[in-house]
Amino acid sequence: MADLWIADGHCDSIGDYLARKRDLREPSSFGHWDLTRAQDARLGLQFLALYIESEYKPFQAAWRGLELLQAALEFIDKNHSDVFLVKSKNDILKLGQSDAIGLLINVEGGEIIGESLFMLDLIFRLGVRSIGLTWNERNAIANGVGEGPDSGGLSQFGFKVIEKMNELGMIIDVSHVNAAGFWDVIHHSRTPIIASHSCAAALCGHRRNLTDDQLRALAANKGLVGINFCQDFLCDNGQADINDVVRHICHIAEVAGVDSVGFGSDFDGIESTPARLEHVGKYPYLVEKLSRAGFNRSELEKICYSNYVRFLSAVIK
Ligand SMILES: [Zn+2]
Repeated sequence: MADLWIADGHCDSIGDYLARKRDLREPSSFGHWDLTRAQDARLGLQFLALYIESEYKPFQAAWRGLELLQAALEFIDKNHSDVFLVKSKNDILKLGQSDAIGLLINVEGGEIIGESLFMLDLIFRLGVRSIGLTWNERNAIANGVGEGPDSGGLSQFGFKVIEKMNELGMIIDVSHVNAAGFWDVIHHSRTPIIASHSCAAALCGHRRNLTDDQLRALAANKGLVGINFCQDFLCDNGQADINDVVRHICHIAEVAGVDSVGFGSDFDGIESTPARLEHVGKYPYLVEKLSRAGFNRSELEKICYSNYVRFLSAVIK
């Protein structure tokens, strides 16, 4: 399995970088993600989430989002021999071809654009290629899961955002969006969508997880779900270990197909990690576990990276 590389749809590590807590190069006594362990584990693609904290919303969200974006771009510049920014089809071709990790910038919170479509153009020009439409709260685009499943779907502005993101070739991430918004997006988007860091509700009833109907709809859309390593999303008692991650992947492969599942660790965004999956360096162990669970070589390739490559190729222009 040593030649399989890994794609991961979500980590929040840039927050530590901006706060100057870590330079994200070497392992430290805290934190889940750093370049050294990522490269040891053959990480080839990482979605770098810019998580806009609730205290900045709504009025300072754009400012905070841009501050995080500047930090991400600075990190990429400073580490240009180890990472590269993924923003074009040409960049997708480079994924997994060397030790350099492709970083795709995702903004976790549509609040960054407020109610202005021009902000979508602007952050696109600055290198952002994915937006998590909401976090758990309501914003101008849609309602997060915290507002409840029946609190309404996309706003009129939200529908315009979907159309503009389709036009630009941006990834629409529905991980925190409530059910009504999920269905609005899936019916309206002309390109596949992603739930970058969620799990299966059939195995764990957390509000952030996706029902089997949602998982099948994602599969029909040629979209993707990245499995979140949050213990509370993996099992109802919140005491997950690496086998629970395998369990969720098996379930999604069974109900929606192996083409629609990948990883979305949420490293540095979750407070605790599953036992035996404590940091990004543990990925090879997870791949070994998946192999033992019965996935063959071509299925492992899909889960590890090629579903992501197919998905990016369908969306990014
Ligand atoms: Zn999140």
